[in-house]
Amino acid sequence: MRGEWRRKEQHEASNSRNEPNSKAWKVLWGLGIQHKLKHFIWRCLHGVLPVNEVIKRRIGSGEDKCRCCGEGTETLEHMFFFCRHSENIWKAAPIDWGGLKEFRHSFWHWWNSLMDAQDRIEGKNHIALTVNILWQLWKSKNQVQFNEMSNCPGRTSGKAVQEWAEYNEVRNGADNKEVMEKEQGAGISRWYPPPQGFIKLNTDAALGLKDRRIGWGVVARREDGEIVGVWAGGRAEMVSQQLRRP
Ligand SMILES: [Zn+2]
Repeated sequence: MRGEWRRKEQHEASNSRNEPNSKAWKVLWGLGIQHKLKHFIWRCLHGVLPVNEVIKRRIGSGEDKCRCCGEGTETLEHMFFFCRHSENIWKAAPIDWGGLKEFRHSFWHWWNSLMDAQDRIEGKNHIALTVNILWQLWKSKNQVQFNEMSNCPGRTSGKAVQEWAEYNEVRNGADNKEVMEKEQGAGISRWYPPPQGFIKLNTDAALGLKDRRIGWGVVARREDGEIVGVWAGGRAEMVSQQLRRP
């Protein structure tokens, strides 16, 4: 009975995977993330990301056990959701998709359910941050497996937040370039670097009276403009707690 249900589910899933207009793909291509991250999710959704289970299935030999926890087969879902290593990274992340727990047995279903979040306020942004976390989970597991290096979970999730924030900043920077140039021309606004050896903090906060939300952010930069830390928070449903890069 269960086997039958699973086959049906897989059949439906494979059909929609080949449907280029499905929400899963449309949202992915429209996300404000780097191309390599879109390709990464594409490989995950097609089940071709080379986790140990996929490699063993393809070449017919090798070890499909997870080298991070030593427990269980390293499937895509184990690597992203069930491994202790990943659980700790999710715990340290500023975003929590606890509502999608029931879909964790299939990344395809999990991703499709995640797509419903795009209609929320900042939904696409939260999905983009989530992709950055998934990318760091993959990179971190490779470091454990191939370099025997284990990173602190907080540092790994902090890296995801930082890369997401940096990319957003570059994108917004491109969009706002014209406005910025005008403002700079009029002497209104400009980022001045701090003296050498100092770190400058830029802060911003916003209050949404209509939906009673408050949000704030802090970016710390060195004199060469390099970001050394990002903190964000607010009374939103998903963005919470202080983010810190150790
Ligand atoms: Zn594991």
